[in-house]
Amino acid sequence: MTIEGRCMKCKENKTMKDAQMTITSRGGYMAKGKCADCGCGMCRIMSKDNADKAVADGEAKKAA
Ligand SMILES: [Zn+2]
Repeated sequence: MTIEGRCMKCKENKTMKDAQMTITSRGGYMAKGKCADCGCGMCRIMSKDNADKAVADGEAKKAA
């Protein structure tokens, strides 16, 4: 699976690269990465299932 996020610069959903999975203060999952097109920072809220899958598939790294 590919992680997509909303890019504020491109103003559309783009593939996220260098994604890192982080856990928010409320216990949710969030992927943080960069727009594959312009390199602008982006993030996306993930469900636990999707977050686990993205890490298992190597689409995202677990943030330290
Ligand atoms: Zn972009």
